[in-house]
Amino acid sequence: MGCIHIALAKGRILRDMLPLLATAGIVPREDPATSRKLVLDTGDESMRLVVVRAADVPTYVQFGAADLGVVGKDVLMEHGGEGLAEPLDLGLARCRMMVAEPRQLAQQDDPSSWRRLRIATKYPNVTRRHFAAKGVQTEIIKLYGSMELAPLVGLADRIVDLVDTGGTLRANDLVEVEHIADISARLVVNCAALHMKSSRLHAIIAQLEQVVEK
Ligand code: AMP
Repeated sequence: MGCIHIALAKGRILRDMLPLLATAGIVPREDPATSRKLVLDTGDESMRLVVVRAADVPTYVQFGAADLGVVGKDVLMEHGGEGLAEPLDLGLARCRMMVAEPRQLAQQDDPSSWRRLRIATKYPNVTRRHFAAKGVQTEIIKLYGSMELAPLVGLADRIVDLVDTGGTLRANDLVEVEHIADISARLVVNCAALHMKSSRLHAIIAQLEQVVEK
């Protein structure tokens, strides 16, 4: 019987996910937050955790290097989700993906009149798709972090970023002007594995489903 690999990213999702996995009976033998191992054994020797970068989780699962993965809906939307099934909203790391701009610009801005925008974001694919569907042209500047800085130094007029409390936007005198999507962590499964290891994967999905509903 082959081993089941679950891909997880360090940080917020891992921290919130470990207690959920523990309730479903999946407990790593070492603490993934401090261990430097990238493949972690669990109490069940047929189950392993694989620690990867958040943006790489969908790729590991898509190519079957991991059977299951836990990933933010933002990362999943940006990846496109090819070869992946998304059976469960884990309800963790909730936030929203928003268009934001400087407060001063917002005072005289009307989103319904947008025709062409210069936007800085970590999510070029999502941003392009969102605005293309509305007939708005975009010049997208891809950044890897601190999007909030871009309008402050004239790199872009607007940003597309995740917002949780709104504190980061407020601190940089930016305001939310358009909602793109509600975000939370999702369980993803390799579509081929879902057929080939059907009973084991469905059992894990069902266990997690019960834990999430509690
Ligand atoms: P906040 O100041 O609470 O609105 O948080 C916004 C900052 O935290 C931004 O830099 C976001 O990119 C990041 N952020 C907020 N929520 C999440 C999340 N669920 N996952 C990853 N990054 C997030």
